[in-house]
Amino acid sequence: MLVLKENRLIAFNKLKRNIIDNGFCTACGACEGACPVRALQVKGEKVERLYDCSTIADLCPICYEICPHSEPLLLRSLEAVYNAPIRSEAVGYVRKILLAQSNDSKIREKSRDGAVVTTLLDFGVKNKIFDSAIVTQTDKDTPVKPKPSVALVPDDICTAIGTKFFPSSVIRTYSEAVLNYEKKDIALVAVPCQALALRKIDAWKHKISGKTKVLIGLFCFGTLSLDSFLAYVKKEYKVEPSEIKKMYVSSSLVLDTNRGPIRMPLSKFKKHILPCCKTCIDYTSELADISVGSAYPLKDWSVVIIRTKAGEDFFNYVVQKGIINVRNIEQEPEVFEGMIVAALNKRNSGLIEANKLEQTHSFVPVRLLRETDSLSDVKVEDIMSKDVITVSSNMTVCELMTIMTNTTYIGYPVINENNELVGIVTIEEVAKVDKDSRWKTTVGSIARQNIDVSYPGETALDVIRKMRKQGTGRVIVLDPKDPQKILGIVTKRDLMHLLIKQASESTLSGSGIG
Ligand SMILES: Cc1cc2nc3c(=O)[nH]c(=O)nc-3n(C[C@H](O)[C@H](O)[C@H](O)COP(=O)(O)OP(=O)(O)OC[C@H]3O[C@@H](n4cnc5c(N)ncnc54)[C@H](O)[C@@H]3O)c2cc1C
Ligand code: SF4
Ligand code: SF4
Ligand code: SF4
Repeated sequence: MLVLKENRLIAFNKLKRNIIDNGFCTACGACEGACPVRALQVKGEKVERLYDCSTIADLCPICYEICPHSEPLLLRSLEAVYNAPIRSEAVGYVRKILLAQSNDSKIREKSRDGAVVTTLLDFGVKNKIFDSAIVTQTDKDTPVKPKPSVALVPDDICTAIGTKFFPSSVIRTYSEAVLNYEKKDIALVAVPCQALALRKIDAWKHKISGKTKVLIGLFCFGTLSLDSFLAYVKKEYKVEPSEIKKMYVSSSLVLDTNRGPIRMPLSKFKKHILPCCKTCIDYTSELADISVGSAYPLKDWSVVIIRTKAGEDFFNYVVQKGIINVRNIEQEPEVFEGMIVAALNKRNSGLIEANKLEQTHSFVPVRLLRETDSLSDVKVEDIMSKDVITVSSNMTVCELMTIMTNTTYIGYPVINENNELVGIVTIEEVAKVDKDSRWKTTVGSIARQNIDVSYPGETALDVIRKMRKQGTGRVIVLDPKDPQKILGIVTKRDLMHLLIKQASESTLSGSGIG
């Protein structure tokens, strides 16, 4: 029987196999918003392909690469925040951490925290610092159902106040703002995975990239599956979706209904958290310009982490205008410690879950790869893979595509007729070659010449720094005695695997001691 192999050069096949079919989609809408031929649509919490895009494109890497749960572009996504002076193991790249609240008590009353996000957006739109803001309002008939929208006036922003605990396709809405409304100075409010999707779109240099003026990230423990949660509430508490007016977390999850509040213990609502959130290791939106979270147990205040110069300039300006009150976080050590502990717990439990998943799944989503001290203890020779597939610089792009289709890799070292390393080629370079020119274009002519190289005695931390600097996802390991001889290759996946292994080993040794 003839079995047709899926075309590996059509990103959707990988997106479907690794992300959608495994239940790892968080409905951010990035793939829908970035698909060049409008072949995708987020319906509920799942992505559907409206028609087979391979009938018009035989090579397209986009939807998989920009999905926040895939490994491509992770290091390039750090570009926006990387210059921050502090690198915290728990909360990432930081300029400043403080407490803040809106000085408008009426706005504050509507939020559980300091209403900082709404106040920043309101000020930015009123003063034309942004031309629009992407916010998450709620559905008229089901008041807890998120409805992402393009806010053009302060009223649209104020009606979006408060936390919605379900997935919101804000990146699709961002794309609509750029393509349909021609907005180019956008403020986007996003949970960490949505923020990563936007940074990936920027790193890809997609036509909708570079239109964010400020990215405000929210802290996030996870989002709940809307259908599964509402069905459970209906069955268990006999409450219709339209009856739930509001939801918030205190020591339990509270549902404000027409019949009074319902308190749901954490263990009950945790069952409805999306599968992908279990391996998520970003609590504080590490890629945002400004991150905002609750200042628990302090009422009416928010924790604000300033990460970028753009975020700092904007935030300072609003504070100078007296619109936002700030306090030193050192005055509230309990708040600071609570945030650090929550962030470290999420990171560790995410990596441990990833370790469990690695035993049963060929693909594990891990969304953040950044420098951590533990990487300096590991030598390159212990993590490199020694089976390196090289390609010849004389080969045509058509021939390379055949190799890409038949192997599991999408990037290869390129060697010349003397077996010398002359470059590196990935699917990104191939995608830029016009279809009709592929048969006459050689791999040598499109290969990147800035090759990241490493040596067996260097550390995993050296490798990640090199990858980040060059914006590539692989480093070629050379023999120090013969610098033309390739000994191995280290990819981002090897580094993620290492982080996962370290987290599970530290738990095992921790339980032994304790
Ligand atoms: C799913 C989720 C989980 C969270 N988990 C934590 C947590 O564990 N710990 C913590 O400290 N903080 C968490 N937060 C953040 C917290 O709930 C507040 O949003 C944050 O403190 C900002 O408060 P604020 O008063 O400044 O925001 P507000 O002024 O009330 O503004 C909130 C903004 O968030 C946007 N928004 C609401 N829901 C969503 C959504 N689902 N997706 C994208 N944008 C949305 C709205 O558009 C609005 O602009 C979470 C938020 C979400 C959405
Ligand atoms: S055309 Fe590209 S982005 Fe669109 S569905 Fe196909 S592979 Fe994905
Ligand atoms: S890009 Fe977003 S919507 Fe698309 S599959 Fe990934 S998580 Fe889901
Ligand atoms: S926990 Fe992570 S994956 Fe889940 S919604 Fe929050 S940021 Fe996204």
